[in-house]
Amino acid sequence: MSELHLSNITKSYGSSVALHPLDLTLERGELVTLLGPSGCGKTTLLRIVAGFLAPDTGKIVLGGRDLTRVPARQRDMGMVFQAYSLFPNLTAGENVAFGLDVRRLGGDEKKQRVDELFELIGLPGMQGRYPAQLSGGQQQRIALARALAIRPQVLLLDEPLSALDAQVRLNLRDEIRRVQQETGITTLFVTHDQEEALAISDRVVVMQGGLIAQVGTPAEIYRQPATPFVAEFIGSSSGLSGQVSDPARGAVHVPGLNEPLSVGRPLTGFVAGDPVRIYLRPEELRLSGAEARLPGDLDVLVRQMRFMGAVTRVSVGAGEHELDIDLQGAQAERLHLGAAAALSIPPQAVHVVRDVR
Ligand code: ATP
Repeated sequence: MSELHLSNITKSYGSSVALHPLDLTLERGELVTLLGPSGCGKTTLLRIVAGFLAPDTGKIVLGGRDLTRVPARQRDMGMVFQAYSLFPNLTAGENVAFGLDVRRLGGDEKKQRVDELFELIGLPGMQGRYPAQLSGGQQQRIALARALAIRPQVLLLDEPLSALDAQVRLNLRDEIRRVQQETGITTLFVTHDQEEALAISDRVVVMQGGLIAQVGTPAEIYRQPATPFVAEFIGSSSGLSGQVSDPARGAVHVPGLNEPLSVGRPLTGFVAGDPVRIYLRPEELRLSGAEARLPGDLDVLVRQMRFMGAVTRVSVGAGEHELDIDLQGAQAERLHLGAAAALSIPPQAVHVVRDVR
């Protein structure tokens, strides 16, 4: 059974449309991320779900109950914001207990629930600290515990990690996912960071200009981007423009590239001449010295090499184009700037998207 069901949601601010008609369903216990660039409507949608903002049209149904006109306080949702929103004059424990006081849960039951939550977020014994005595990451853990204290049906997270340093951010990201999985709470998570979205989500909703561009698992979004926008927003890739030359054989022609490319299977739904964008992910291409060239490889020249730790990113000139390849460790040591090399593009590395721009 679906837990949270949004249908035909729209929102405009004056004459500017923030959300076009939009449908989205979250299954029970699922973590779904709203991902997209600044201004695409993520926060607007989250605020509509929370009840802070009324949609112009549409319906919000949670577990069969229509919430569209229910005030935020009565929606049974917990929320964590980007900036630490703890009450500075209350201790961490009092902050977490705040929602329970409002709901008149008292005595031992309250204390036990607060203690359990401090265990859950990995800060046992920190109940007596004031927010000013906690790091940013710890404050966000407390904010998470506070949101969960009322045992909401849905957890809403609005860029909860964006104010934190890189390392704290990664730790807390994994921690949020662990807590979410342990509690099994249906969660909607807003971020503009694609790596974060891929790492944390059951499904990702990629938004663009108030529309949903694609919904899918992280692997689907990464491997089968539905539009040029999704392909360019997620991961890094070299994008090329071309045309379908032989749809039955999966062949595409890229002007300025010496060899045709093949996806290795029929391009269904395409006809010869259809304009397409072709995306090549750096980690899916293979580069070797010119002496190891195999039939079908492209002759390329090494133009740039960037050591990135786990991989070295090599840019090569291929005909009129520049393509990036990631090489593991020692593979890159055999190459140098200006060297002739052989580039192999396996069919499964050729991602073809209809050019809709
Ligand atoms: P960000 O990542 O920058 O927060 P976002 O994807 O969350 O962006 P929204 O904040 O939902 O985007 O904004 C969507 C669109 O609506 C933007 O064009 C924004 O300028 C506009 N907008 C948001 N709030 C208001 C408002 N109160 N009045 C007028 N326009 C608004």
